[in-house]
Amino acid sequence: MAEATPTSLKRMRTGANSDSVVAAMTQPAWDNGDWNALPPLNHDVTADVCVVGLGGSGLAAIDEALGLGLSVVGLDAGQVAGQAAGRNGGFLLGGTARFHHDTAARYGRDWARAFHQLTLDELSRMLVDTPDAVRRTGSLRIASADDEWDDCQRQHDAMQADQLNVSYYSGPEGRGLLFPDDGVCNPLQRCRALARRVMARGARLFEQSAVTALESGYAHTRLGTVRSPQIVVALDGRLGELCPSLAPQLSSIRLQMVATAPLPAIRFTRPVYARWGYDYWQQLPDGRLALGGCRDYSADTERTTDASPGGAVQQHLERLLRDTLRIDAPITHRWAAVVSYTASALPVFASPHPGIWAVGGYNGTGNLMGALYGRAAVRRAAGLPTVLDPLLPA
Ligand SMILES: Cc1cc2nc3c(=O)[nH]c(=O)nc-3n(C[C@H](O)[C@H](O)[C@H](O)COP(=O)(O)OP(=O)(O)OC[C@H]3O[C@@H](n4cnc5c(N)ncnc54)[C@H](O)[C@@H]3O)c2cc1C
Repeated sequence: MAEATPTSLKRMRTGANSDSVVAAMTQPAWDNGDWNALPPLNHDVTADVCVVGLGGSGLAAIDEALGLGLSVVGLDAGQVAGQAAGRNGGFLLGGTARFHHDTAARYGRDWARAFHQLTLDELSRMLVDTPDAVRRTGSLRIASADDEWDDCQRQHDAMQADQLNVSYYSGPEGRGLLFPDDGVCNPLQRCRALARRVMARGARLFEQSAVTALESGYAHTRLGTVRSPQIVVALDGRLGELCPSLAPQLSSIRLQMVATAPLPAIRFTRPVYARWGYDYWQQLPDGRLALGGCRDYSADTERTTDASPGGAVQQHLERLLRDTLRIDAPITHRWAAVVSYTASALPVFASPHPGIWAVGGYNGTGNLMGALYGRAAVRRAAGLPTVLDPLLPA
């Protein structure tokens, strides 16, 4: 594939017959084209549970509902994992979006440790459910400067005190911490595998079926309505649009990535989280590098629901790739998606109306947390205890 530059993206958007080329250039590197589109909902249906949003959180919710013997309908405005769940960095990191010692300082050591363990349990489940798309590689936090190294030491001590696996690391990536229990995935392949699995178990999934209005017992789309006593809304980046009462708690942020052609050798055997987590990359088994981050360099432009890649962040990613990592392989993919952040850095778990359960706001780290919250929402909807109960506000 030809090199994708920020300028070439702009040119293609304005050129004749360019739409299909732009679509290819803005697809994530994760997409191997193996998905057969699902039909839209074009009639009224009933189900025990309706799940709105077929990203990783919604699919986990469906999986949980099927396990409880419930009938499920799932709706997505676009494709299965067509947004953040299939367009992310693929990191599977234990804990919240904050480093462990920060979470412990804010919510208490017991809380932080228990939450960390729940996310790692979710990773173990993924390894069993979708083994072809998930690897437990461990992950690295690399310090970019002395103050971050000091912070790594604080994190190391706090994790050891709380019996969480961590060790100091020094290697070609730099110095920092190694978390052996973390992992990586191909996020799109993982979600597609999960979608196939739940459909094989009887879930009815519909694509191109945006929910335009929600009320207790009903999810309305343009061509059909799902009648269901329990509705789980798992939209992360767009949660506030469908549940406006939650909008004040959520900020939509665009996150961007690039991927390269295969490097001549495997340089990174573990995913790397650097510069306080603002930059992150993983090398895929075929040698390609998927690199994301740099949003802090252009915070204002990234406060948006526009999910197309571009602007200063793409240029910063390129600089990180060429000048810092010294990689000259051509960039083959550039993509972006929108997620939600919260002031507390913890996800939202709310019931804005009777029978409607809303989850999202994973602060850019929703692969494990989203699955955890999606499952918990279904169990709450079914009146059952959830593993999150001791950790959620009463
Ligand atoms: C570039 C990038 C890198 C990231 N890196 C990581 C990472 O390495 N590790 C990590 O853990 N997290 C990462 N994240 C965050 C992670 O991708 C998200 O937190 C997670 O995917 C959220 O999943 P979700 O299923 O809740 O939401 P989404 O994936 O956003 O799925 C929501 C779905 O709802 C659909 N939808 C929207 N509106 C409607 C509607 N009205 N009706 C019906 N359907 C609707 C959308 O089409 C979408 O498919 C990253 C995100 C991005 C963008």
